[in-house]
Amino acid sequence: MKYLQNMKTMNAVINSNLAQSNTPQSICFPEHITVTTTLRCNYRCVMCYQKSYEGELDWSIYKKLEDILPFARGFQIFGGEPMLYPRIHDLYKLAHKYQNRIDIISNGSLLTDETCESIVANQVGHIKFSIDAGTQKTYKKSAVETFSRSWQALPKSAS
Ligand code: SF4
Repeated sequence: MKYLQNMKTMNAVINSNLAQSNTPQSICFPEHITVTTTLRCNYRCVMCYQKSYEGELDWSIYKKLEDILPFARGFQIFGGEPMLYPRIHDLYKLAHKYQNRIDIISNGSLLTDETCESIVANQVGHIKFSIDAGTQKTYKKSAVETFSRSWQALPKSAS
């Protein structure tokens, strides 16, 4: 689907030219999109500003994004814990369909074989795991969940 890559390149060139000429960028599309899928999280880290938040982005919003996704290069999926989002696999598929470079930030605790298969099938290119301590002892001070739950999930995502 070379035409998708051509559309992204064309959009990037227009964005760059408009930026250099100081022209308002109202005739091009964003190159990078970040969505907060859900504000829910299965952890309750002491430093988290989101821990009492709730709510999820309605799937109809993503359908509206379909007009923009062909032009964007990057699609970042954010939370809460994004793997709690009920349609996370559909979201990977949607971004993959338009050849967006998918980037997700997760606490890593919800990785399962099924999740990993979907990540590989949809070419999720970049996963950032937020593990905010180096040992079980210090981790327990910041999160209610156990360090090992996140840590043990990591090899799955790498294999
Ligand atoms: S894992 Fe991340 S989103 Fe969840 S409570 Fe901790 S800092 Fe907040």
